[in-house]
Amino acid sequence: MVEKIPQHMHCQICGKAVASAETLCSDECKTQYQALVKKRKNYMYIMYAAIFLMIALLVVPKFLGVGF
Ligand SMILES: [Zn+2]
Repeated sequence: MVEKIPQHMHCQICGKAVASAETLCSDECKTQYQALVKKRKNYMYIMYAAIFLMIALLVVPKFLGVGF
């Protein structure tokens, strides 16, 4: 038998079931989620910087005629 479960989502922070239109259950979780997103954004900037640095290290010696 398949049980009928009303449409719902789970809070992205604590996993509690919430109404389908919501992805977070409370203001507390919203604050935590925003902090998480901020952290992730900062991490992305660091990644971009690292990639840029790597490309620069590969390209600049070639450009100066001292690479490979
Ligand atoms: Zn929650």
